[in-house]
Amino acid sequence: MFQKKKTIVIGNWKMHGSVQNNEVFLEELLSTMEDISSGDYECGIAIPSIYLFQFSSRSDLGSFHLGAQNVAQWSDFGAYTGEINAKMLLEFDCKFSIVGHSERRKYFEETNEIVATKANHLLDCGIVPLVCVGEDQQERENDAAVEFVTQQVEQICSLIGPEKIKKCIFAYEPIWAIGSGKVAAESDIKEMHEVLRNFLESFIDENAAHDIPLLYGGSVSDKNVISIVQTENVDGVLVGGASVSMETFGKLLQNVSGNHQ
Ligand code: PEP
Repeated sequence: MFQKKKTIVIGNWKMHGSVQNNEVFLEELLSTMEDISSGDYECGIAIPSIYLFQFSSRSDLGSFHLGAQNVAQWSDFGAYTGEINAKMLLEFDCKFSIVGHSERRKYFEETNEIVATKANHLLDCGIVPLVCVGEDQQERENDAAVEFVTQQVEQICSLIGPEKIKKCIFAYEPIWAIGSGKVAAESDIKEMHEVLRNFLESFIDENAAHDIPLLYGGSVSDKNVISIVQTENVDGVLVGGASVSMETFGKLLQNVSGNHQ
């Protein structure tokens, strides 16, 4: 799953959803995916974990990948009230999980060490970590974005190690672009993705680094998705707000699927 040769579209529902609305969303999503089944894309959505069972209990998910938005930093069962470990996610057909989203870093003080620990637990269960990195407005304005993101990736990669990192996906998500309607300039996306690719090439071998999908996230919509996925070294997108409703997510998928790269 998540082969680099296809355009990867991953939704992040954040704290949205309801049992009733999810049914309607899923019907529309599966029917849209059937209509555009010839498109060169892969689609997944990171849903709130409480809905994983509702989705995974269906037998008709086809090529759609179910994902989580977070996982516990502890792998063993135990006294961690409110937490969900990777083994539990696996039971509900969870194929990937976001780690290190900027909202988790901000509200839950998640550090690069915690992000790497979570990624390691996911990998031990065969779940793909979708590792988010990205600078804030200040760092961008101070011309420190590349340095900041490089440090994040270096630290996370060294804690995960060169073998396991090959099974991860990365998303470059400038914090100021998330939910703001401000998309990063194409030149900035290109620059950062090249930096990420170059770093991975130096960390593992060139071919393996080339196979790691690099996504962009931050105010992606059906209107801007095509130019973003056509940017060099961009293998797909992580979509927040526009993934919550099929009105926008359906159009986005249709646009991507017509874009055979
Ligand atoms: C996100 O939540 O990861 C995200 C990129 O959100 P949005 O698309 O709404 O900016």
